[in-house]
Amino acid sequence: MKLLRNAHFYLSNGFENPVTALLIDQGRIASLLEGKEDTLPDAERVDLHGAWVYPGFIDAHTHSFSGGLYQNGVDLSACTCLDEVFTLLSEADKSARDRIFAWRFAEENIREKRFPTVNELDRVCPRNQLLLRRIDGHSCVLNSYARRVVRGLQSVEEVLTGVDNDLAVNWLQENCTARTILNAYHAAAKTALKGGFTRVHTMVGDAQQDNQHFRLVRQYSYKFPISFELYPQSFNIPDALALQARRIGGCILADGSLGSHTAALSSPYQDSPGVGNLYQSDSFWNEFIAGAHANQLQVGVHCIGDAAIDQINNAYLRLDPQEVRTLRHQLIHCELTPDPLLERIAASGATPVMQPNFDLLWGGDSGFYAHRLGVERSRQMNRWGSFTRAGVRVCGSSDWYITELNIAMSLHAAINHHNPDERLTPAEAIRVYTENNAWLARAEDRYGRIAPGFEADLSVMDTDFTQSFDYIQARTTAVFRSGEQVYAST
Ligand SMILES: [Zn+2]
Ligand SMILES: [Zn+2]
Repeated sequence: MKLLRNAHFYLSNGFENPVTALLIDQGRIASLLEGKEDTLPDAERVDLHGAWVYPGFIDAHTHSFSGGLYQNGVDLSACTCLDEVFTLLSEADKSARDRIFAWRFAEENIREKRFPTVNELDRVCPRNQLLLRRIDGHSCVLNSYARRVVRGLQSVEEVLTGVDNDLAVNWLQENCTARTILNAYHAAAKTALKGGFTRVHTMVGDAQQDNQHFRLVRQYSYKFPISFELYPQSFNIPDALALQARRIGGCILADGSLGSHTAALSSPYQDSPGVGNLYQSDSFWNEFIAGAHANQLQVGVHCIGDAAIDQINNAYLRLDPQEVRTLRHQLIHCELTPDPLLERIAASGATPVMQPNFDLLWGGDSGFYAHRLGVERSRQMNRWGSFTRAGVRVCGSSDWYITELNIAMSLHAAINHHNPDERLTPAEAIRVYTENNAWLARAEDRYGRIAPGFEADLSVMDTDFTQSFDYIQARTTAVFRSGEQVYAST
């Protein structure tokens, strides 16, 4: 038995409660104590030094393999001009063995407002194959060495999008040894713990890849300090059933991204004439979603623009809404939702799995969304408050590696949405990352709350998120998973 003491404990209504200690037995919360700690002389006592203890935070959508792999890559997010990009790449070229992954490149933050050219990349990175990825993952550039190895590129353009972007990224992630794959997941687990999470939903493979990663991660799941909820990212229903997966999909794409002008809109972009791309036909999605549903598989589909969200929601509307809720089918990202669409989502029973950090990074009247879509449409995005008021249960995530896997940042972003109508209260935001995300995995009876009988998954922070807080200063001090301490801040 373990007694966690000297801390504030977050029960479903907040920290205003008389609980002074938590008794853990066999991985579960045995009881909440109000004083009376002395009556348990045999329990191992753990002093939490006045910290704030939450149910283990859960992130409902990550790309943990890529994130783990890129952890060792070159992060370009702080660059403000191409010279800074070149300096980082040429340093990496000196130490890397064969490949360099550079990521989080955003040309809007670069003085020159463009990608580097292939020639420039060849000059700074002559010895290694280089893939430089845009921050949203929907476009990339390769140096000549890498362009020679990636097979089947269709376009002669230097900046690769669509199928060519997928080909390039798949090449990067192919031919990894089991050790490299598992190391990437270990790196992801470390990042998750530091960010305050005990569990993350993670997208595995993609529509073209086999199930090697899924089987491997499941086989070695006992070795990781956090829990991974696995999503086979595939259109192959028989394969998902053979894997005994409970779900199918993830970032399987109904459309692309706003950054790459490939998110599918009902009316044109503000800064470009097109309306983006629907990647599949209505009948494709209707058939795929009905097939997965008939096999009791939870479905998740990436949809960003209102036309893509509508297309996927229409496929859900063809099903029984009660069954859609029971299986917890997902609209992943679900960024642009004008009122009529929001009402149709409430009617279908689908669950938006959204990313509060997107508003923090791209929201506001002079932000990236407003530039791409105009101010009026930018106010109809990432509608946490409106969905919640409409009785729709929303789930939350970072989409890591796209944004940081950091609970303080995600809670801050949801609580301080640039549009006051879309803000969540601290209690609502915490519920999203605990109870709601547990519900998404149909595990709301097992974890996601500090209550007797629940798994002792706990995130211990130095910050009270129910009061105003500085997310940059907030730190995870300890993480417990099934009662075992798996993280301590140094
Ligand atoms: Zn994703
Ligand atoms: Zn996505």
